[in-house]
Amino acid sequence: MLTRALSVASLLLIVSQGTNAQRLKKADKAVIANLEAHISYLADDKLEGRRAGTNGEKLASEYISKQFELAGLNPKGSDKWLQPFEINEGRQVNPSTLFIINDHDLKLNTDFFPLAFSPNTSVDAAVTMALAEKDVPWFLDLKNMLEDNKENPHFDIEAAIKEKAIKMASKGATALVLYNTSSIKDNLKFNGKDRVAAAPIPVVYLTPKAMKDHLKDESASYDIKIRVDIGNKTRTGHNVIGYLDNGAPQTIVLGAHFDHLGYGEDGNSMVPNVKNQIHNGADDNASGTAALIELARLIKASKNKNNNYLFIAFSAEELGLNGSKYFTQNPTIDLKTVNYMINMDMVGRLNDSSKVLTVGGYGTSPVWGELFSGFTSKTTPLTFKFDSSGTGPSDHTSFYRMDIPVLFFFTGLHTDYHKPSDDFNKINYTGEFYVIKLIENLVTASNLKGRLAFTKTRETQTTTSARFSVTLGIMPDYSFSGSGVRVDGVSDNRPAQKAGLKAGDVITQLGAHSISSVEGYMQALSKFKKGESTTVKFNRGKESLEASVQF
Ligand SMILES: [Zn+2]
Repeated sequence: MLTRALSVASLLLIVSQGTNAQRLKKADKAVIANLEAHISYLADDKLEGRRAGTNGEKLASEYISKQFELAGLNPKGSDKWLQPFEINEGRQVNPSTLFIINDHDLKLNTDFFPLAFSPNTSVDAAVTMALAEKDVPWFLDLKNMLEDNKENPHFDIEAAIKEKAIKMASKGATALVLYNTSSIKDNLKFNGKDRVAAAPIPVVYLTPKAMKDHLKDESASYDIKIRVDIGNKTRTGHNVIGYLDNGAPQTIVLGAHFDHLGYGEDGNSMVPNVKNQIHNGADDNASGTAALIELARLIKASKNKNNNYLFIAFSAEELGLNGSKYFTQNPTIDLKTVNYMINMDMVGRLNDSSKVLTVGGYGTSPVWGELFSGFTSKTTPLTFKFDSSGTGPSDHTSFYRMDIPVLFFFTGLHTDYHKPSDDFNKINYTGEFYVIKLIENLVTASNLKGRLAFTKTRETQTTTSARFSVTLGIMPDYSFSGSGVRVDGVSDNRPAQKAGLKAGDVITQLGAHSISSVEGYMQALSKFKKGESTTVKFNRGKESLEASVQF
């Protein structure tokens, strides 16, 4: 890149920004002041990072409802302005789970824990550890298993234990109690994200401390009571939905997610091992939420009556587009009447020199090209970077999958992305105003276009490939709650497509690794190198299929 060419270009752009800044009218300045008010509230520490299902999310949803009401919208959720939905967080060990040895009540987590594939059941028996008798719990020292597989990078200890449990159950064991006398770490824990099918008997791990305190003598008889109670862990997220009904046959959906990372509890912070730090998410995505509120005001005041308008602030986007997926599966208007969807995610960091706005979904309707050709340097200071794909890492993807034309607006990544430093004082408010004006003009220009035609586009690769040397080329469905990884989409000419996988398939095994969750899938992938091949097992409807893949 030529430095000289760059500096000349930015000089010219600075000049053009100067003239545009002078042209701001009183009403425009009011929009900018409103944006500052919305974002400084939504990104305040008081809202604790607006994590879906928390009090911070509730405060934000109340603010957005109030602003929608002030803008003159009508509530269009399932519960007034709100549309509550359940977020599956995996599973948890319920407190009634117990392990009693000779009347000593062991402490959950410090002394013992069940493995996630344990069925919920109770066992009560007199046991001698050294004897494997029928109808009593059996004991297994993990020592041999760990030593035998010390050099095996593909060793999956949980799968090996499960296999043992199945064998022991067939020989009469009613539970499997694990302990580890070797110096090799087993790294076992209760993994609530694990969704493998249950083993026939409960498998409970005893810590070295519990072994030393309560089971010293291999030949003594012990009274043992085990109860396993594992339940679903859920929390409730809330979309906020307002409607502008013009009595038109079709409706334009405008959306932006308002949730963010909270304190990073869901493991989606870019700061490793972050604790007690609020991720305010000013750009991601208080900026889009503020734009949504301002567009509601501007569109309510406009003369464009050929469409109705539905404004949705989505929750749980950060967990895998959960809010928008829930809405498209449980819409509060007839989805067949949706004309198109506009998504704003991170629109607050316009670069003042380049003024580049990324526009995704450009290929989802032939009309987008026509409408954008109407923008000139006289009508907007923005320059556009077009991406034709209807999919991407935000909520428009959910609408594209329902064959609805979409546009996705985004001012670009920055070093504060998913960090506690994404704060309101770093927002380019005037830049965001230009984005809002552009969208308002676009909506106005579409008023006479009637119903927009939909076109399918290529899929965007959204796997975080940096951590892996190989990928399958699928988009996992992060909201899937069954066992395995459900495929949401398959990229062209990638290993998964070549192996014949399709959207809707549920991947259950990759090579020697059984796969129960997206996390497990990621772990399995990290064990392969480019050029290697393996087999993938997956379910399609009721069929179990197998194919070979080459990375
Ligand atoms: Zn985000």
